[in-house]
Amino acid sequence: MEINPVKGTHDIYLKEANEYQLIENTARAVAELFSYSEIRTPIIEHTPLFLRSVGESSDIVSKEMYTFDDKGGRSITLRPEMTAGVLRSVVSNKLYATPDLPLKLYYLGPCFRYERPQAGRYRQFHQFGVEVLGNPNYHLDSEVIALGHRILISCGLTNVEVKINSLGDETSRNNYREALKKYFADKVDKMCEDCKRRYEVNPLRILDCKVPEDIEIVKGAPKMSDFLTPEAKANLNDIIADLKSIGIEVSLDDNLVRGLDYYTGVVFEYHVKDENLVDVGAIGGGGHYANLLKELGGPDLEGVGMSIGVERLHYVVSQLTTPELMPKGPDVYLMGTSEYIIEQNVAFADMLRSSGFATMMNYEVKSLKSLFKIASRNNAKLAVIIGEDELTKNTLTVKNMLTGEQTSLKKENWENVLSDLLKEYVETYYSKVLAISKEEKEGN
Ligand code: AMP
Repeated sequence: MEINPVKGTHDIYLKEANEYQLIENTARAVAELFSYSEIRTPIIEHTPLFLRSVGESSDIVSKEMYTFDDKGGRSITLRPEMTAGVLRSVVSNKLYATPDLPLKLYYLGPCFRYERPQAGRYRQFHQFGVEVLGNPNYHLDSEVIALGHRILISCGLTNVEVKINSLGDETSRNNYREALKKYFADKVDKMCEDCKRRYEVNPLRILDCKVPEDIEIVKGAPKMSDFLTPEAKANLNDIIADLKSIGIEVSLDDNLVRGLDYYTGVVFEYHVKDENLVDVGAIGGGGHYANLLKELGGPDLEGVGMSIGVERLHYVVSQLTTPELMPKGPDVYLMGTSEYIIEQNVAFADMLRSSGFATMMNYEVKSLKSLFKIASRNNAKLAVIIGEDELTKNTLTVKNMLTGEQTSLKKENWENVLSDLLKEYVETYYSKVLAISKEEKEGN
């Protein structure tokens, strides 16, 4: 009986796995450019961690968590996001006890939400993100926003829109919450069941509702910006000015509240504009959290975080950019046309790999014709052929799989010659193949 993948999950392999690797490597490299270091935390955490951080009024906690009792009767949850686990780890390991605050961390890993699967929405997905913890300083907020922006640009995206808002300080938020309650009081009965619940536990969440009729009602609601204290307004303006000074324009979005309860102060989202693109929602987002570390048992340090959905980023990158890299494949395909040659090739492949050449070889005897087909299907750069003739003369024949050019060389010279031929292959690939595909794209 065939067993299907679990609904909302997906396998990533071959070409797509290479594309994911490229995106993930880019994100890591950008985080390292900003001097962040990696943190890896468990996929499973105690359920109360998310109740206390993400918050019981959020959709994530109230509807979307994978929660179960383990064999010891403890309530365990598969992480629906990464910030809570990272902060838990900062507290558990006292990472805050360093003379070098702010603490700058980045992460990458799978998250789980029991959502209705649709384009860009999975039940298991991956997040790449950063958290910074230290004393409040608006330059840190703008740095985190800029870091996420640079990841998207470095993946080849143009037209990245940064939406920004401020949830203000406690006073701003309390006043705003009261105003929302007043506004929705005589409307909530006509709204969806979720909004009825949100009205009771956290009316700010109503602004996030995606039901078309409710969106109409939300349009007339009071605006957060009218309730910000002068300090909260100044903080938002400082962050916007900081970003402007490095060429990042932002747009203010009064309805941006984000789906997690721990945010205070600035919140933001990244969107990519394209008329033909199916709307998959925000590619990433984040915000400032003044109290989360303290609430999780740590010291009174503020934080700011940003997280990008790797699946959504992969989707827009594959839709909107030309791949800049050649397809992944071995440097050398070592061809054996007899049992004896294959035996010799086993040792030669080992030498090639020890010298850093990615090598593929055949273990079953096949004709050269079919071996060339295999080499080409696997994007091999060089084919190395040792036939009877080469054996007697102690030579190798190397074929450049792009140009078809053949070179014969003495076996003892293989290392230098192969590395020259490989360089030549790469240069030709960049100048001919990628240049052509760019021209074709521009011509379209
Ligand atoms: P959040 O933790 O809700 O702020 O989400 C951060 C980012 O993770 C979003 O902008 C999405 O790119 C991504 N994301 C959230 N939920 C999903 C999901 N169910 N499937 C795929 N990506 C998601």
